[in-house]
Amino acid sequence: MALINENYLKLKAGYLFPEIGRRVKEFTDANPDKKVIRMGIGDVTQPLTPTVLKAFHAGVEEMGKAETFRGYGPEQGYDFLREAIAKNAYQASGIDISADDIIVSDGSKCDTGNIQEIFGADNKIAICDPVYPVYSDTTVMSGKTGECAANGYYSGIIYMPCTDANGFIPELPTERPDLIFLCYPNNPTGTVAGKEELAKWVKYAKDNKSIILFDAAYESFITEAGIPRSIYEIEGAKEVAIEFRSFSKTAGFTGTRCAFTVIPEELKAYDSEGNAHSVKKLWLRRHTTKFNGVSYPVQKAAAAVYTEEGQKEVNEVVAYYMENARIMRESLSAAGYQVFGGVNAPYIWVKTKGGMKSWDFFDKVLNEANVVGTPGSGFGPAGEGYFRFSAFADRANVVDAMERVKNLS
Ligand SMILES: *Cc1c(COP(=O)(O)O)cnc(C)c1O
Repeated sequence: MALINENYLKLKAGYLFPEIGRRVKEFTDANPDKKVIRMGIGDVTQPLTPTVLKAFHAGVEEMGKAETFRGYGPEQGYDFLREAIAKNAYQASGIDISADDIIVSDGSKCDTGNIQEIFGADNKIAICDPVYPVYSDTTVMSGKTGECAANGYYSGIIYMPCTDANGFIPELPTERPDLIFLCYPNNPTGTVAGKEELAKWVKYAKDNKSIILFDAAYESFITEAGIPRSIYEIEGAKEVAIEFRSFSKTAGFTGTRCAFTVIPEELKAYDSEGNAHSVKKLWLRRHTTKFNGVSYPVQKAAAAVYTEEGQKEVNEVVAYYMENARIMRESLSAAGYQVFGGVNAPYIWVKTKGGMKSWDFFDKVLNEANVVGTPGSGFGPAGEGYFRFSAFADRANVVDAMERVKNLS
């Protein structure tokens, strides 16, 4: 008899986006003449830029000629891409990360989800609330939790609430975690952590021999000077942190698929006898066993992001989204909402008025303004009473949607 991994039974059904889809469909079926503007899902809307596309095409052409054809590539990623990443994303800002520390993959969702495989089942995991749901769901899948309680929390996870009361930066937990997920700039709150705050976490991790799993998927949306784009801007972080980055939001690769994990040689974790082991070595062992590399044309396209033209183009796309964010912030503030995020991230996190529940606000915005956003409670219990608007949208739609939301009763 084939037995299932019963941890999967503990998972709440993929509830958020299917439920949004269901309610939107119900509305559009009943109101076929209404133009619904979707600002719910965190997916990019602008196409790949010309320089990236040219490199992508050139890579495809090479695959079609015997002299330049390539089969399996190096599982860790081609040298040309890992070197471009190390040089441009790190060394150019004075961060000592080498191509050897970089492991290319097909996505940060996979990397942040798979990383737990190389850590023991007895690790305690700390997760912010609200946050990107991948961290908690994969913690459940890996068997480190009990059931989900009525309050939406799984037993066995250390939850760290992030609300306007603490500026969306979690307090140091009272129970000691072994692995700590942090995501800045944050999805869904759009907020960032400064150097001092991250330094506090690096010190905590060092003192407790914990490891920080730092998701920097939105680093390129930072517009203010002095906000860290990498955890490795913090002294000592190389000994305690893994960083995840992706071309998805940065360069419009959500459908093209390319990302990378950074694991410095200094990063160690321990066996049950207390002996230190290289985390990079374990992750490479896993990666080379279970993954066969990102396709060559995609890696060529990703490397083109770091050329001078490529940088100029992707920066323009980011600026387009951030201008959307500015318009949204200003319109929503003018409409009397308390607004967070949207300055260094493409998400606007709005507090509903009068303590309205997230899903009630969702229905109101859908029914009265015909705009789709994301209920904050879908990202975790502490997101209740908040609502996320995504700046990944067409400018005309943004202006239109904000006008409609302004006129809500
Ligand atoms: C979009 C997103 C990612 C990127 O995932 P990919 O699999 O690389 O597309 C990672 N982390 C967060 C928080 C995200 O919102």
